[in-house]
Amino acid sequence: MTTTTAATLPTHTEVVIVGAGPTGLTLAVTLASAGIDFVILDRLAEGANTSRAAVVHARTLEVLDELGTAEALIDRGIPVTRFVVRDRSRRLITVPFDGLPTRYPFTLMVSQCETESVLLARLRALGHDVYRPYEVASVVQDAQGVTLTMSTGQTLRAGYAVGADGMHSVIREASGIGFTGSAYGESFVLADVAMEWAPGPHEVSLTFGSDGLTVVAPLPGGHYRIVATVDDAPATPDLSFVQRLLNERAPGRATINDLSWSSRFRVHHRVADHFRAGRLLLAGDAAHVHSPAGGQGMNTGIQDGYALGAAFATGRLDQYEADRRPVAQRVVAITDRMTRIATTRNMALRGARNIALPLLGRIPRFRTKLATEIAELTVQPVRPLGSSSMSFRSGSRRSAETITTVGRAG
Ligand SMILES: Cc1cc2nc3c(=O)[nH]c(=O)nc-3n(C[C@H](O)[C@H](O)[C@H](O)COP(=O)(O)OP(=O)(O)OC[C@H]3O[C@@H](n4cnc5c(N)ncnc54)[C@H](O)[C@@H]3O)c2cc1C
Repeated sequence: MTTTTAATLPTHTEVVIVGAGPTGLTLAVTLASAGIDFVILDRLAEGANTSRAAVVHARTLEVLDELGTAEALIDRGIPVTRFVVRDRSRRLITVPFDGLPTRYPFTLMVSQCETESVLLARLRALGHDVYRPYEVASVVQDAQGVTLTMSTGQTLRAGYAVGADGMHSVIREASGIGFTGSAYGESFVLADVAMEWAPGPHEVSLTFGSDGLTVVAPLPGGHYRIVATVDDAPATPDLSFVQRLLNERAPGRATINDLSWSSRFRVHHRVADHFRAGRLLLAGDAAHVHSPAGGQGMNTGIQDGYALGAAFATGRLDQYEADRRPVAQRVVAITDRMTRIATTRNMALRGARNIALPLLGRIPRFRTKLATEIAELTVQPVRPLGSSSMSFRSGSRRSAETITTVGRAG
């Protein structure tokens, strides 16, 4: 992803968004579309171009459609209509997305850089850009507003500050809001590879096994994303490590030809105790982190960004935490359950799981419920301006009074 950098930072704004990942960019596009005065800044001189989230679910595509970016993103990705769960080579259940009640009855496989790049292009089309590189070093709020001091010493005064600044959020730290939860014992290995893969590029495969969970998902350009829980992995797993992993867990199904990127990391499952403390608000990874099982992280963040933008535009800021924190709690609970079911080493539980899932998989309502949950379609869509039919897609303008009223309410 390429970006231009460093226009001079303004000294005042109504809303400052700290962090230009997918959450911050979505919020920025929503505020720009609503005509609300804001600044979005990031400490990186350029947008990150490392491989991270690769899955965009149906509800997120609906949100991106409201912002006029869904079609551009779909053009860059691969639609996949099913998740297939196996124990080793035995199929346990297929989760189908193609019957879901949405304009987007599929999961889009696309790199996070592409998602960020499409959002950034929309932001620029609306006449805004990200201020880079500006690192927020401290944040102090008072009755009238928030003062942010950059690592350079520059200050920015705002009505509100939003922490879209990831798991180690400075805004969350400054707010004193707790981040309750813990870390999984296992490491997660991630790798992007070119390979011959027997199940092919039309499904996301989740393979359960006594050694851990292995997810293989297609990416554009004939590549695959591998995510696997591993007790002990090197910091940068090489091709032979990943090939050995697949040989053990999906014997005879994979031949890796090239490994373009790999990483190992620890995963936490945590939710912020509040999403708002006065004039400080949290969204995305700053507010919740969880297992990558099901690919929910970035999706939930994008939907937070949109919901928060709509809350600013409608003057219903208090509703934001009420709407979005339960969603985060549910996503953390479900991904945690999925991870524990997939990785259990208890023989009795594994046996029960392997009997129950194929039986449940024969019940169409169960399959649909699972697909609906993964696609985040259980989450009520945010109506941009109350229940009015106004859409942010057209870049409609809001009067300055709306945000001024919001400012006084804080
Ligand atoms: C290796 C890896 C693999 C992942 N794989 C998946 C996956 O398969 N599926 C999935 O759903 N999710 C995955 N994730 C998680 C996903 O990337 C995040 O959920 C998503 O990026 C959250 O977006 P965000 O905008 O909330 O935060 P981030 O993307 O973390 O963006 C935060 C931004 O804030 C900026 N920032 C931070 N502090 C400051 C500061 N003090 N001042 C100014 N700017 C600051 C950072 O530079 C960054 O640009 C993965 C993450 C990683 C790291």
